[in-house]
Amino acid sequence: MPRLDDTQIEQLVSKAWEARLNAYAPYSQFHVGAALLAADGRIFTGANVENASLGLTMCAERVALGAAAAAGVRSVAAIAVAGVDDDGVVPCGACRQVLNEFSPKMLIIRCRPDGSHSVTSLNELLTSPFTGESVEKGKNPSREPVGAA
Ligand SMILES: [Zn+2]
Repeated sequence: MPRLDDTQIEQLVSKAWEARLNAYAPYSQFHVGAALLAADGRIFTGANVENASLGLTMCAERVALGAAAAAGVRSVAAIAVAGVDDDGVVPCGACRQVLNEFSPKMLIIRCRPDGSHSVTSLNELLTSPFTGESVEKGKNPSREPVGAA
């Protein structure tokens, strides 16, 4: 698990709340911000972006990860997520899977409205991810299930 000092964590918490201000959430009114710390030290932010076709809504975490990946990031140390829930907000299942693609052990910082936060890791939240290894195994024709045509 990556180690972050308190200053780095506080900076991510602050940037996640700041990013939340840009959330586009006219349908749910559930505004979320995220701040991602790349392994190279750069920080990328995201906010949720809803769509009238609700299934096309993008979560703050995936928006931040997309910005990071587009800038060449392939390793992530941590992501802070800020939303108004007394317990803080954690990434949804889809985001956990997408975040796992880059860094299964990244830290997840859950920001609470009272200013506090807690830290966990992605591999604690997503215990059985679907991975590139799963895809490779599926390519092997000698492993076709019994009974397949
Ligand atoms: Zn999500």
